[in-house]
Amino acid sequence: MDKILNYIGGELVKPAGDAWLDNFNPALGQVYSLIPDSDERDVEEALRHAEAAFITWRFTSLEDRFKVLNRIAEGIDAANDNLARAESVDQGKPLWLAKNEITRAGQNFRFFATAAMQFASESHSMEGHALNYTLRQPLGVVGCISPWNLPLYLFTWKIAPALATGNCVIAKPSEITPMTAFLLSKICADAGLPKGVLNIVHGLGPKVGNAMVSHPRIKAISFTGGTATGKHIASVAAPMFKKLSLELGGKNPNIVFADCDFDKAVKTTVQSSFLNQGEICLCGSRILVERPIYEKFRDALVKEVSVLKVGNPLDKDTKIGAIVSRQHFEKVLSYIDLAKQEGGEVLLGGNALQMQGENDGGWFIAPTIIENLAYDCRTNTEEIFGPVVTITPFDSEEEVLTMANCTEYGLACSIWTNDLTRAHRVAANIHSGIVWINCWLLRDLRTPFGGVKQSGVGREGGWEAMRFFTEAKNVCVKL
Ligand code: NAD
Repeated sequence: MDKILNYIGGELVKPAGDAWLDNFNPALGQVYSLIPDSDERDVEEALRHAEAAFITWRFTSLEDRFKVLNRIAEGIDAANDNLARAESVDQGKPLWLAKNEITRAGQNFRFFATAAMQFASESHSMEGHALNYTLRQPLGVVGCISPWNLPLYLFTWKIAPALATGNCVIAKPSEITPMTAFLLSKICADAGLPKGVLNIVHGLGPKVGNAMVSHPRIKAISFTGGTATGKHIASVAAPMFKKLSLELGGKNPNIVFADCDFDKAVKTTVQSSFLNQGEICLCGSRILVERPIYEKFRDALVKEVSVLKVGNPLDKDTKIGAIVSRQHFEKVLSYIDLAKQEGGEVLLGGNALQMQGENDGGWFIAPTIIENLAYDCRTNTEEIFGPVVTITPFDSEEEVLTMANCTEYGLACSIWTNDLTRAHRVAANIHSGIVWINCWLLRDLRTPFGGVKQSGVGREGGWEAMRFFTEAKNVCVKL
């Protein structure tokens, strides 16, 4: 059985305790590799190397940082086919989608390599009396913890700005999808990233993740994952005054007004509901449709979704792959049961799919559309994070704002309308960190990315990320 290894001090190494965890292929429902069950000893060892590397890395010229981060991007691009296949096998997502995400992982490194060269700080003149200038200095050794849904993309989204700003990193990918982070360690070594600058420690959240969060010499934690985990991390890190960026769960509304471009709204709603099996924090899982077009929209959506092929993620015409793990598969199914108990009517799907052939042990769920639920019931307010959406009519802008804002989450929202004034007004009144008007998942890496309420604290992307990974120090010079 293949073994994934930790990447510590520039070497691929076994975990200190020589203990291993099973890694599953969700489309087969079978173990296909083993991953290190690391513990605090591995984190301590990674920290020793990272602190040693920081002495040099923090003073490495911007141009040299730029060059090595670009070489990592090139390495990711060159390995796109291998990485995409590995991601698809590990996570269950369709191969074509994995290819796009791997391309975006390379772009993360390229984007923040360039940002390192452009990042500047402010100065404030006190009219002939004094001059203030701000230093933005790296924090030291920082921790990056990422989830299983977009494994390499989200992992690199954190690591790249942390390295670009001169920090050394201890990173932990999800134990459910560790493979592409392991392959990245080889790419970083080949790209000439100095030993110890990036260390990747695999293992369980409560062991490795917790050891990182609670370590007093790890200066900041950038975390993406569930809200419950984020709460726990905040409770451990806050008393230590550790810098925290938390990107958490969502329950995003997708608001469709009657004057929208109907075909575009339906087509994009298919994507925003079911891309990556609905396992994207930005998916719009609550579809709210203005009453005059409700039935037409609902029927068109059901028709489009009913032809999506669910199956082997490696088949090129598969649109919906496997659910990432047995545990998550059962969680999603339990929410479909809950929806029925709450009076929901399943318009499409609503069941697990038993595949034939080699995928007969895999975890597949039919794309599911449910109507007839109260807007504030549990199904409509708790995160499901799978191929399950609800659809609900509304009668006025005021009503839809109440519905959209009724959850504890506030990550993203889509608005479909051709009335620009209304679009801006609704965007301003939605409680979320991200709003798309007449589109979805259109991403510019310079924009602030993150949520409000229980969807998170802080922002990633562009200068926000560069600022998070640096400490501002004001120096005042009396003239
Ligand atoms: P999770 O919270 O279970 O795990 C995320 C990471 O945290 C994993 O690496 C895990 O090992 C680690 N972890 C778990 N317990 C820990 C602990 N006690 N201390 C430190 N680390 C710990 O989340 P998940 O199930 O992997 O991911 C799905 C969730 O992520 C969903 O809620 C989704 O909305 C969210 N998500 C949010 C964004 C965003 O940008 N806001 C993006 C993607 C996913």
